[in-house]
Amino acid sequence: MSLLFISDLHLDEDRPDITAGFKEFLAEYAPKAEQLYILGDFFEVWLGDDHETSFNTEVIQALAEIKVPKFIMHGNRDFLLGPVFCEQTGCELLPDPTVIEYADKPILLMHGDSLCTQDTEYMRVRQMLRNPDVQKDLLSKSLEERAAIAKGARKQSKEHTRETAADIMDVTYSEVERVMADKGVRLMIHGHTHRPAIHELEISGEPAKRIVLGDWGELGWCLKLDNEGEELSSFRL
Ligand code: MN
Repeated sequence: MSLLFISDLHLDEDRPDITAGFKEFLAEYAPKAEQLYILGDFFEVWLGDDHETSFNTEVIQALAEIKVPKFIMHGNRDFLLGPVFCEQTGCELLPDPTVIEYADKPILLMHGDSLCTQDTEYMRVRQMLRNPDVQKDLLSKSLEERAAIAKGARKQSKEHTRETAADIMDVTYSEVERVMADKGVRLMIHGHTHRPAIHELEISGEPAKRIVLGDWGELGWCLKLDNEGEELSSFRL
């Protein structure tokens, strides 16, 4: 039996190819897994559980049909995913960070954006958007208002990405080491940076691994974890 990890699908009405690829992934891989983990940015944007579109309903139904235990974590784009979505899909919402146990070993799961501490401007925005009062205020606005705010935020984020050096947009290594040591783990899995890789490192003198999931676009990405180890693979969508 295995655990499956995906993130950064950025599911979007305008990218039916990714949605189709996700459905194929669900049909082919998910039923054979023990558990499925979605580590953030599942949707390109999530305005709130009350935003009922045919696209959102289609994704919710596809996920609901998969009967293996499913877990989802907020990303920076779908941080408004809430209890109604979880109820409809049968997903359990995990806090970021979360430590799970597998084969008697603790594994740290994160979306990954909180590791990019050099990007101080982004960290400020993140802190604001993760504030429950700010989220409550956002959800009290009309869907039209929320859509306009999300559009503005995306535009700003694109400009920020263009203007910011690539290494600043990546994780801060000292922060990775700090969090892994703090949580007492030797394996960490996260997404967000769109730089899929398995990094070998050392934490408190012991060998450790940081696995970065890939974003879905031309390819889909998935990490499979079982008794034999970890397999990070991509497939054509
Ligand atoms: Mn992200």
